[in-house]
Amino acid sequence: MSGPSEDAVFIDRVESFHVENCRRIGDSVSKGSGHDDPDGLTAARAYQGALADAGLAGITIPFEYGGAGLTAHHQELFTQTAAAWYRPDSALSISHGMCLPMLNQYGTHEQKAAYIADLVRGATIWCQMFSEPGAGSDVAGLETRAVLDGDEWTLDGQKVWTSGAHYCDFGLVVARTDPSLPKHQGLSMFIVDLHSPGVDVRPLVQMSGARGFNEVFFNDVRFPQTNLLGEVNQGWSLAVSMLMFERVSIGAGGGGLNAKRNPELIQLAQDLGRSDDRLVRQALADLYIHEEIKDYVAQRIRATVAAGRVPGPEGSIAKLTGALLARRTRDTAMAIIETSGQAWSQLDQQRQNLRSAAGEKWSNFCYNAAGISLAGGTDEVQRNIIGERVLGLPKEPDAFKGAAWQDVPRN
Ligand SMILES: Cc1cc2nc3c(=O)[nH]c(=O)nc-3n(C[C@H](O)[C@H](O)[C@H](O)COP(=O)(O)OP(=O)(O)OC[C@H]3O[C@@H](n4cnc5c(N)ncnc54)[C@H](O)[C@@H]3O)c2cc1C
Repeated sequence: MSGPSEDAVFIDRVESFHVENCRRIGDSVSKGSGHDDPDGLTAARAYQGALADAGLAGITIPFEYGGAGLTAHHQELFTQTAAAWYRPDSALSISHGMCLPMLNQYGTHEQKAAYIADLVRGATIWCQMFSEPGAGSDVAGLETRAVLDGDEWTLDGQKVWTSGAHYCDFGLVVARTDPSLPKHQGLSMFIVDLHSPGVDVRPLVQMSGARGFNEVFFNDVRFPQTNLLGEVNQGWSLAVSMLMFERVSIGAGGGGLNAKRNPELIQLAQDLGRSDDRLVRQALADLYIHEEIKDYVAQRIRATVAAGRVPGPEGSIAKLTGALLARRTRDTAMAIIETSGQAWSQLDQQRQNLRSAAGEKWSNFCYNAAGISLAGGTDEVQRNIIGERVLGLPKEPDAFKGAAWQDVPRN
């Protein structure tokens, strides 16, 4: 671990980078990356490329694979320092929060050498492909099939709710490789090039008009044997690791929907003349308390990661805390902006009307806040995990425990 003066130098590097490239949280409202770039891709790529040029991307990834080759302690310093800034990198959150640590942890040398450097600098973007129409909470029951044919795998099936697949280059796909085994035992994880023949990505349009998710169809998609990540039929343990990376990223990462919003909302309440309202003041105080609590939970989880351990059920605690906090943030924002959360005007925004700009921005947050309770496993699923693995409560009954997947009835 580096000494205090070395820490100060590193913090200063991170701070200077963000002064150059980002806006500080609490600065007045702006619309973000704009309607011509609904996914925020241009801004995300520019930010990530600049980070890589500054030697601050992929902090704990070895230098030989295109990372910064620094320590988990540096990662923690980065996360804490960068949390004060709006970082336009949400389009990369799955790529960097989940796919990168998976490749780094389970990839062969050849896989790391082939993929990681581009991923680190945002030149390629990756997504996570677990959920299917018949397998969400019970993801181990999934049906997408991968079959070894000579020295190639063939992939057939369908994924759904795949965040960002419409702009991604690669997916980490969990597929069934042996239906004669019980459901958790016959799965494997693959690296799939989404530009391959037979991959059909269809965006799903949300009520806000945004296109964050996709359904993705695989029809006789072929890729080399070497695209297997980990071992054949060991995919469930990789999937669990990846879900824990996701839960840590959602619950204990520093940016995006997970950032501390209290300073910004206090500023907004002042700007809109709402800071004398008793209920607004109470909501802001309550939010402050819960953000601080979540910060301590997050620090504990990040310490687990920094110690080189794959996080266990504490990832579920972080994720549940983050999901509940997002809803609390949403309610506080709505109490401040009142009816502007339901209607705002583009014309007023052109006239720099703060209430209208805040209306659009926070109603977008409002739509997205509920989804955090579903993504990466629902709140109920996290409570089940915490109940079983932290509190030692009895497991959920499973009438088909140990049965071959192919013998279990499905819809
Ligand atoms: C914002 C967002 C992003 C996402 N991104 C991705 C992605 O990139 N890749 C991907 O693969 N998937 C993604 N998903 C899908 C997500 O993982 C699933 O929506 C989630 O696992 C729930 O599955 P489901 O929607 O099929 O609901 P279901 O599993 O059908 O659940 C329906 C309801 O039943 C409850 N329930 C189910 N089982 C139990 C149980 N055993 N005990 C108690 N309650 C239970 C659930 O809590 C829920 O309320 C995303 C979802 C969202 C909202």
